[in-house]
Amino acid sequence: MNTSPQPYPHLLSPLSVGAHTLRNRVVMGSMHTRMEHLDDAVARHVAFYAERARGGVGLIITGGFSPNEAGRIEAGAPILNSREEALHHHKPVVDAVHADGAKIILQLLHSGRYAKHENIVGVSDIRSPINPRTPKPMTGEEIQGTIDDFVACARLAALAGYDGVEVMGSEGYLINQFVVPRTNNRNDEWGGTFEKRTRFPVELVKSLRTALGPEFMIMYRISALDLVEGGSTADEIDELARRVEAAGADVLNTGYGWHEAPVPTIAYPVPRAAFTFASARIRGAVRIPVIASNRINTAEVAEGILAREEADLISMARPLLADPEFVRKAQEGRPEDTNVCIACNQACLDFIFKEKVATCLVNPRACRETEFPIAVRAREPQRIAVVGAGPAGLSFATQAASMGHQVVLFDAESEVGGQLNLARRVPGKQEFDELLRYFKVRLSRSTVEVRLSTRASLEDLIAGGFDRVVLATGIRPRPIHFPGADRANVVGYIDVLLGRVDVGPRVAIIGTGGIGHDVAELLTSSHSGAESPDEFLSFWGVDSTIAQRGGLLPEHKVSAAREVTLLQRSSGRVGSRLGKSTGWIHRSKLKKRGVRFLSGVSYKHIDDTGFHVTVEGEPRILEVDTIVICAGQESEDSLAGLVQSAGVPVDVIGGALLATELDALRAIDDGMRLAHAISKGRVKEAA
Ligand code: FAD
Ligand code: NAP
Ligand code: SF4
Repeated sequence: MNTSPQPYPHLLSPLSVGAHTLRNRVVMGSMHTRMEHLDDAVARHVAFYAERARGGVGLIITGGFSPNEAGRIEAGAPILNSREEALHHHKPVVDAVHADGAKIILQLLHSGRYAKHENIVGVSDIRSPINPRTPKPMTGEEIQGTIDDFVACARLAALAGYDGVEVMGSEGYLINQFVVPRTNNRNDEWGGTFEKRTRFPVELVKSLRTALGPEFMIMYRISALDLVEGGSTADEIDELARRVEAAGADVLNTGYGWHEAPVPTIAYPVPRAAFTFASARIRGAVRIPVIASNRINTAEVAEGILAREEADLISMARPLLADPEFVRKAQEGRPEDTNVCIACNQACLDFIFKEKVATCLVNPRACRETEFPIAVRAREPQRIAVVGAGPAGLSFATQAASMGHQVVLFDAESEVGGQLNLARRVPGKQEFDELLRYFKVRLSRSTVEVRLSTRASLEDLIAGGFDRVVLATGIRPRPIHFPGADRANVVGYIDVLLGRVDVGPRVAIIGTGGIGHDVAELLTSSHSGAESPDEFLSFWGVDSTIAQRGGLLPEHKVSAAREVTLLQRSSGRVGSRLGKSTGWIHRSKLKKRGVRFLSGVSYKHIDDTGFHVTVEGEPRILEVDTIVICAGQESEDSLAGLVQSAGVPVDVIGGALLATELDALRAIDDGMRLAHAISKGRVKEAA
């Protein structure tokens, strides 16, 4: 525990923003959760935001609300255009947040050409490469009407009691589309010169200030780096920042990369704080406070940014999904207790893309606060054996112990973590260390009795006098069977990840799931640890001076440590089942390193001449030195029937229950749900 009286002196100090004083420098960035689609949406929003306010955050920005129908991202997406909504949906949220001492502002978001509905409007008729719909260019009258709609929406926000609004001017949404030549080819008073392209945001901020008065906080989210061709230059960004300040903005938030950008901006391959060079430059151009954002996930990183004067405030969105008490833990000098966002996007962004309500891989309570209350005690505490200390077993054991159960946790290995100990070895996945650390700290603060290096047998489980057994024994890699598969140069992914085998310079990988891609990443990467921000920017061709429009440099060749071919039996695009927000990053990285992708492959045999396959029916010999098997897994559930036959109630969770489509997200969620169900007495007495 940190014993310093002021563990994070910059992060935890107050700051004046316009007419308001924020109690610290932590801003919870805007997140669309889709909770509005659930029953009891108001109660859920109140619980979600109030928990984060109670956790100590200084300022909360809501998810984006469109000021009119055309600006909605999709039919049914959040909009604020009625007094009733303001008073009945928003006011309870605002009141709850204020009661816990935080400020809250509403994000105004007009999607422009990103909208996924038929009445899509834009600055010009230029279609986005990620949207099949072509926008209808707005007339001058419609543009003025849109500004009026923004102002009307801000008035409703004021009616609901919000402290202000954030004007979403980045990420390639409508306002950003006005600002850059990529999407603005108008030749009237709203396009052409820089002055005319920036007229929309400037007029909008002026109108907001005039209509809402000096007390109302106006935050403008500026695109600090577009990362698309035809975007802004650094000089233009700085000039826009000055104009928005002069128009009446109190504070500038920063955004990085359009949704169509070919460079990752928030997922785990992005090093922490990789983009603060841009917030630092803008900070030098204006007098109002500037907020840094993207891949800032610990109090330590945030403190460093403020101490180096790269920003005045820190926006963290997903880290507050992962741990509502982020600030409180920093204040109390116990950052090691923080459940850190690992930037996987698996349960937040990827769920939104699948039209599901967001939650969090490391905190499955997120957005389900009303379903899984914190302080639940078991009705009838039990003595429970948990076999397997992977994420499923860890999640169950820590949760069940906190509810009053007496838990004994077994693992055959000498370390807890299960497959997380493999995932953390993949270059770029070092954030998994945070999850391991979090579980270890939770275990050490719990009553769980941990028995490592102990392969639990039926005899142990019977002799222990347990009321029930929870099997979280994970998986076994799926074996493959064809002639030559038993040769010494055919190796399993676990041995490769643990460095237990030598891998030659030419490699074929059987299987293109997440693990096949991760092994390809490991084998082609020139270094094993996390990339530095400079290495990351150089790999992706980002010009940090933003002298080029959009900050992108021409494509350049990237060297690879090995020549790798990824193989799958099914036809279709390799990697299509990877997460929507991260799969493209994997494919793009591997392509840059010259990795070949083959689908429609049939595995024949391996001999001294190479790996004999057919590709879409055509025979081929792949001349490779090593073949790595990443062909999926099967459940390790061999104890289940035995324990059940012995008359002890058994529950099976995580990979032991179902190996298909298994990930840490489901494993952790299974563990939490089972602990709640047992504590409420909802589980059948035998599986
Ligand atoms: P496991 O993690 O397999 O844990 C099972 C545990 O049970 C092991 O520790 C084992 O030693 C123990 N055990 C088994 N039998 C016994 C016994 N009889 N007695 C005692 N102990 C026993 N998931 C994601 O969500 N995102 C990712 O980015 C991701 N990347 C990955 C990268 C790699 C390289 C790998 C290998 C996996 C990755 N995963 C990822 C998958 C994720 O790690 C697994 O889905 C998750 O660990 C499954 O959790 P589990 O608790 O069910 O099983
Ligand atoms: P997977 O996603 O199920 O992929 C298995 C691969 O093996 C597929 O490409 C499959 O393709 C192939 N395969 C299946 N049976 C085979 C057989 N009998 N012979 C040869 N090939 C076979 O499994 P995984 O890659 O091992 O990943 C395991 C889990 O970990 C996944 O469910 C994943 O969610 C999780 N994970 C997630 C991430 C992430 O970034 N989110 C990263 C790593 C792992 P064909 O059948 O077409 O050949
Ligand atoms: Fe962070 Fe992953 Fe949770 Fe999203 S799901 S908040 S990226 S840890």
